[in-house]
Amino acid sequence: MLTSPIEDIKNKLDIVEVIGGYIKLKKTGINYRGLCPFHSEKKPSFFVSPTRQIWHCFGCSKGGDIFGFIKEIEGVEFGDALRILAQKAGVELKKQSSKWQAELKTARQRLYDICELSCRFFEKQLEGSSPGKEAKKYLLKRGINEGSIKKWRLGYGPDTWQGLSDFLVGKGYTREEIEKAGLVVKSESSQSFYDRFRGRIIFPVFDLNSQVVGFGGRVFGTGNKEEEIVKYINIPQTLLYDKSRILYGLNNAKVEIRKRNECILVEGYTDVIMSSQAGFENTVAVAGTALTPFHLNILKRYSENLILAFDMDIAGDTATKKGIGLAQERGFGIKVIKMPSQGSDPADIILKNTKDWEKDIKEAQSILEFYFNSAFSSFDGKVPEGKKEIGKIILPVIKRIPNKIEQSHWIQELAKRLAVREEDIFEELKKTKPALADEVSERAGNSLTPKTPKNSEERKQILEEKILSLILKEPENLSLISEDRLPFFSEKSQQFLKEIKGQPEEKDLKTILAKLEKKADKELKNFLSALSLRAEVEYEEDPEEEIQLCLTELKSMEVKNKLKEISEELKIAEENQDKKGIDDLMKKFNKLTREL
Ligand SMILES: [Zn+2]
Repeated sequence: MLTSPIEDIKNKLDIVEVIGGYIKLKKTGINYRGLCPFHSEKKPSFFVSPTRQIWHCFGCSKGGDIFGFIKEIEGVEFGDALRILAQKAGVELKKQSSKWQAELKTARQRLYDICELSCRFFEKQLEGSSPGKEAKKYLLKRGINEGSIKKWRLGYGPDTWQGLSDFLVGKGYTREEIEKAGLVVKSESSQSFYDRFRGRIIFPVFDLNSQVVGFGGRVFGTGNKEEEIVKYINIPQTLLYDKSRILYGLNNAKVEIRKRNECILVEGYTDVIMSSQAGFENTVAVAGTALTPFHLNILKRYSENLILAFDMDIAGDTATKKGIGLAQERGFGIKVIKMPSQGSDPADIILKNTKDWEKDIKEAQSILEFYFNSAFSSFDGKVPEGKKEIGKIILPVIKRIPNKIEQSHWIQELAKRLAVREEDIFEELKKTKPALADEVSERAGNSLTPKTPKNSEERKQILEEKILSLILKEPENLSLISEDRLPFFSEKSQQFLKEIKGQPEEKDLKTILAKLEKKADKELKNFLSALSLRAEVEYEEDPEEEIQLCLTELKSMEVKNKLKEISEELKIAEENQDKKGIDDLMKKFNKLTREL
């Protein structure tokens, strides 16, 4: 019998390894745990079970198998998750029936194909065409060696209007699709399409799985006489490419970042390439944007230590300051490399002497030291006006330090250097708002991952799961769920509770569970295995009390729901001037309110 690719992939891949590629996991007992990538948390409640090959987060209730994990973390559809995992598992999907093929060829996949084909096209141009060879000469002169050109798949976009797009159309893609991939621009006057990257060195941008999702193009040489020509251009946001989420080089750097527990953040493609070439593999770049909450969430999976190597005036640039503020609030340890002069970048330094760069990294200052130095060099800390200005720069930064001990240290330091009393600094600090970062977090908060279970549906589910897992852990707790409490539970949980209640002769719940799992449908099966995992990892000082608390909350949720229903009915009764109805409903309403 032919096995499905899904089973095949599941057999070949270990869930711990796959998930461990995205987040830090620690072994606890027979399971692994880590910080959930899908909601914001300080204590890890994300578990992976190697025996069951499932994952589950007890904070946000998300869970499932490896496919579910990839879908969730990569934000892709099932077909794409299948493809990503098939690649990891070395499972060939092509041999499968055409049904699979059809599912895989999503619109998204076609965009991936366009990016990959374009990347090959650009690579070929760099090797073969004579302007391409010029471009290559330029790259070599800048210190990027042959190996790096291959590794980072650098290319050349020919100086023609439709060279790339004609090539892609020849491969069966429409100009509209090519536009969706960001590679052509629609001319407003003639309604025709022309290539975005003409006469530029091309830097493909990769996602975490090293698939090409976007491109950046750089002018080179002195041939261009138009003065206003932009040095770097990037593709705009597409279905695959979102600069606020992508860190250039992370596909290559992620393992080293985790290993060294440190990430060097630079600004340009060439900085990343030269760093990696010189052995600083833990380097990534934000491309054409300041640090966003999304970047930070991704980085946090690998390390909480950042070293910034920006050539801009960090203290003066508002966007950069915002990004740093966000990182600080999220508990990142931040250091800053002092660039020797404005306009010099890591690539230049490395080209001159790798040792210099090594030294710069070693001598990176903590972000607080950095702000101190920059404030004290801009203002005179001995005169009242200067003291005030310095306070204005440094206090918001101190305010954002989440750790109180560390915060207190810097308050002392500031008091000492300004020769004022610590109490006064405390007073000022109370008045200070970490304004900039707040603004950004709030805005980002709307769309950002931290999904604390706000809506009652999720909360209800969490409470139910907690109760059921505590019962699985200690079956005698089942007696706490009396008949009259069953209606507080969802249908699924009720079904489960009835099932185990109905078999009092079987004391061993594990046996019951195993039986249940056998005959259960897929959804119930997932539910049961998540429960078993939870029972394994759950720990409560006093499970009985915990169950009672959860039950009370469930009951009040149920009552509130009913109250809402009644007030809806009441509205209708009032509209219909149904006096008897109103009376009855009011009675019901009052009775229920007493139960709250
Ligand atoms: Zn979670």
